[in-house]
Amino acid sequence: MKIRAQIGKVLNLDKCIGCHTCSVTCKQVWTTRQGIEYAWWNNVESKPGIGYPKDWENQERWRGGWVLGRGGALRPKTGGRWRILSKIFANPELPEIDDYYEPFDFEYSYIHGVDEAEAAPTARPVSIVTGERIETVTWGPNWEESLGTEFAKRSHDYNFKDVEKAIYGEFENSFLMFLPRLCEHCLNPTCLAACPSGAIYKREEDGIVLVDQEKCRGWRMCVTGCPYKKVYYNWHTGKSEKCIFCYPRIEAGLPTVCSETCVGRIRYLGVMLYDADRILEVASQPDVQDCYQAQLDIFLDPHDPAVIEQAKADGVPHSWIEAAQRSPVYKMACDWKVAFPLHPEYRTVPMVWYIPPLSPIQEAADAGALATVEGIPDVASLRIPVRYLANLLTAGREEPVRTALRKLLALRAYMRRRNVEEVRDTAPL
Ligand code: SF4
Ligand code: SF4
Repeated sequence: MKIRAQIGKVLNLDKCIGCHTCSVTCKQVWTTRQGIEYAWWNNVESKPGIGYPKDWENQERWRGGWVLGRGGALRPKTGGRWRILSKIFANPELPEIDDYYEPFDFEYSYIHGVDEAEAAPTARPVSIVTGERIETVTWGPNWEESLGTEFAKRSHDYNFKDVEKAIYGEFENSFLMFLPRLCEHCLNPTCLAACPSGAIYKREEDGIVLVDQEKCRGWRMCVTGCPYKKVYYNWHTGKSEKCIFCYPRIEAGLPTVCSETCVGRIRYLGVMLYDADRILEVASQPDVQDCYQAQLDIFLDPHDPAVIEQAKADGVPHSWIEAAQRSPVYKMACDWKVAFPLHPEYRTVPMVWYIPPLSPIQEAADAGALATVEGIPDVASLRIPVRYLANLLTAGREEPVRTALRKLLALRAYMRRRNVEEVRDTAPL
């Protein structure tokens, strides 16, 4: 066993209001430079939906002619040296610029300096519907928010063929949630593995994944290799760039910009201890549905004396062990099991975890429209299907998500009774 420390994040989706403040502040601090105008190191997606860049969850599209070989390694569907070489040099599985929609065009000073106008849209409309028929459909980030949709039976394989069904679907089954996304600073980063120049590295002390701008030769294999599509090519410098987890701020003891400016206060930062010797075993987990549990098991209890001893012997600083003991990320992911990794079946062992949203049920609860178990609203009453959340967060296993939602519902009911109805809790702690 070799113990390493890793900084990670939990995002409580129940509290995200989709205001995009995190994206805008990140943009203003890190990516207003030439060549990277189109990129969002942090973005907030409307789900279920096609995401940003467009269709990023469609792994078949990006993997193209590649298939998973023995030990989890990628290999071309048909062998042959020339086929392999053409794959490497052509690198055809990159998103195109249209998949990123339009470059960011917001300047705070415009608010004060702009001439008065009736309406001043800067982006093209996302859909034009005439009468009963869709005439043309274009796309933009968060376009799903404009559609009254029947997505309830959908998993994450959304595609344009469903757009008609989406617009003319059953309104009462529609749902919408927000999914803020950033680089996952994976324990098994495929961007790093894909880089032919050795430019991408994972920091020993905190696990932050960075691109060495001196070494990068602009191959863009990292863009292809990242299943979350969170590396961006800077056309001006000819180098790849990605979220740096605000490492200059982390080193100064400050939170990331997106965490500090988050309006919903949904972001929690923390340290996790893990067994670095088990990464490959976990990443090559053959059964898709076991991916979440396998990735959960790689994290170690920072209060266990044997773990503390081993971590010290492996060179983890005492301050990081203490940080792991106080870590809300460890608490929510491992102790309480209410937070889950995004698409663990991609096997990169991502380090941004999510608390699933309960969806806005309070009005229905007040109206007595929800099924209850011992006075607490039941999971079956929730608008967002557990199946959908399980496809997003636990590689399809519904039980862990269902259990987490039950805990969250119970906590909500408890806090409501205590804070709103002012019922005193007389039970011993
Ligand atoms: Fe690399 Fe993508 Fe993982 Fe970030 S999310 S560390 S870019 S593989
Ligand atoms: Fe959600 Fe916070 Fe970002 Fe607003 S700032 S969209 S609440 S994560």
